[in-house]
Amino acid sequence: PRYLASSERYEKMPYQRCGKSGLRLPRLSLGLWQNFGAVDSLANARAMVHRAFDLGITHFDLANNYGPNYGSAESTFGQIMAEGFDHYRDEMIISSKAGYDMWPGPYGIGGSRKYLVASCDQSLKRCGVEYFDIFYSHCFDPETPLEETMMALDYIVRSGRALYAGISSYSPEQTREAAAILKDLGTPLLIHQPRYNMMDRWIEDGLTDVLDDEGVGAIVFSPLNQGILTNKYLGGIPENSRASRGEQIYLNESDLSDEVIAKVNALNNIAEQRGQTLAQLAIAWVLNNKTVTSAIIGASRVEQINDSVAALNNLDFTDKELTAIDTILK
Ligand code: NDP
Repeated sequence: PRYLASSERYEKMPYQRCGKSGLRLPRLSLGLWQNFGAVDSLANARAMVHRAFDLGITHFDLANNYGPNYGSAESTFGQIMAEGFDHYRDEMIISSKAGYDMWPGPYGIGGSRKYLVASCDQSLKRCGVEYFDIFYSHCFDPETPLEETMMALDYIVRSGRALYAGISSYSPEQTREAAAILKDLGTPLLIHQPRYNMMDRWIEDGLTDVLDDEGVGAIVFSPLNQGILTNKYLGGIPENSRASRGEQIYLNESDLSDEVIAKVNALNNIAEQRGQTLAQLAIAWVLNNKTVTSAIIGASRVEQINDSVAALNNLDFTDKELTAIDTILK
């Protein structure tokens, strides 16, 4: 059966131009890094993708190695598309990436043309789509000439595998160079995907200036710092949270020291004064950076998507609030 999306899906979500391109992205995008793998519930994954789309989230962010296992988040997404969702393909922006380790041997990691093109083809197959809207170099590879990686992105676009090129987690200098090479090649750099949240502000130290100069958009990942910037850890680590899952290597109990939990509680007080949840405050805060086009949220259940999207009801900050936040996080 075809999924019939809400007829009101474009009424509330704001769409913002990505850098100086013609593409507008929803202020919130959905990332499938975790909770969409082969180990996760397909019904839950499908419900989250459908709900996000109903709320105006037109952009779904993937990568070759999202899972577990590697590749399986793309397969899950492909299955959701095939089972009654792909009639909305032209209303969606679907992205994928290659750069981190994906398959064994020298051609399954890095920034070579060999890896990027082969991986893009695999990702297209898993997702069951003919093209990606955005294809990224997932990380800078110091062992590959930047020209080669950018030529691979240019080729991926020219050959019809993707419409736009992006880079993720490149430094300001690497970004400036990448943008210059891509400009020469005739495929402008659309977007940079860096990590950014109240507890990790590295992009303010040079990167956003480069992006503004070059007319490149920014889509930020882990705006909730993987869930730390939500009400979930206020009293410690609950069951059924990312930090409680034993196998987690990206977020674990040591990331939630007493000091961190105290800061999170102080931020939660500010959120309450604003009439928001802490997740909503954290999202509004990253969107307040004028270079940020969109924030990619993750979720483990539909209610979190509802909660996070309601951040859009209050995106404004007073100087006093911003100063109070800076003081807590100093
Ligand atoms: P977030 O910081 O948004 O963390 C998401 C997690 O926070 C959820 O899985 C859930 O964790 C918890 N959560 C979400 N919403 C709420 C809420 N409203 N209330 C309470 N808890 C909530 O983002 P991610 O770290 O998941 O990253 C988002 C996306 O960014 C990824 O899916 C991926 O697409 C992209 N990304 C890109 C990277 C890159 O290198 N380019 C690296 C990392 C991410 P719980 O399971 O505990 O419920």
